[in-house]
Amino acid sequence: MLAPLTNIFADFISLLFPQECLACEELLARSEKSICTDCRINLPYTNSHLLANTQNELLQRFYNKVPLKHAFAYLYFARSGRVQKLLHALKYQGHEEVGKTLGNWYAAELKENHLNTQWDLIIPVPLHAQKLKKRGYNQSDSFAAGLAQSLEIKWSPDILKRTADTSTQTKKSRLERWENVGQLFRVVDPLAVEHKRVLLVDDVMTTGATLEACALVLLEAGAQEVSVAAIAAA
Ligand SMILES: [Zn+2]
Repeated sequence: MLAPLTNIFADFISLLFPQECLACEELLARSEKSICTDCRINLPYTNSHLLANTQNELLQRFYNKVPLKHAFAYLYFARSGRVQKLLHALKYQGHEEVGKTLGNWYAAELKENHLNTQWDLIIPVPLHAQKLKKRGYNQSDSFAAGLAQSLEIKWSPDILKRTADTSTQTKKSRLERWENVGQLFRVVDPLAVEHKRVLLVDDVMTTGATLEACALVLLEAGAQEVSVAAIAAA
């Protein structure tokens, strides 16, 4: 049982060495947590929640694939940028807390634009059980938790499950990958989504294939409508 000792050690280290901003690596002021004020102001926000449906390129990615109510992303993803660093910290460096912070911040903006009444339930895109065990947490859970907390909406990681591991999928063709993704997810608790307006959340939205597959099974299971939101859109 090394975990408690590791935690104590980490606390001790943080006393000796001030923390760095997870987005730009500048030292944080004592009042700042995870992300510095400069990054907070200057991150590349998409403001997709302010756009009309016809102007929202993220929503258009799903046209003729799955009917969605909304498609939002908080930030733009660029390789080697601040958002890439943030997501790397969230996914691979154990900084689960940054997902919650971003969820809290984004929720405040959604609320300001009266979007908090749009959903009954928040569901994160699940990881496969094996990957979850290896990483220790699902990076989308903390974003879901942060959104749920500030929007005052329930969230659950137990409704939607990933049934197959896709870690080898990069070796497959585009078509095979697509067929694969279609059978990846299962709603294990259909009663929980029946007649619900679901907000499905993920860390990064690229082609939207994963979100699309999840949205389809949620609608099949009886969800009234599905919206999607990602931390970042590539
Ligand atoms: Zn920064």
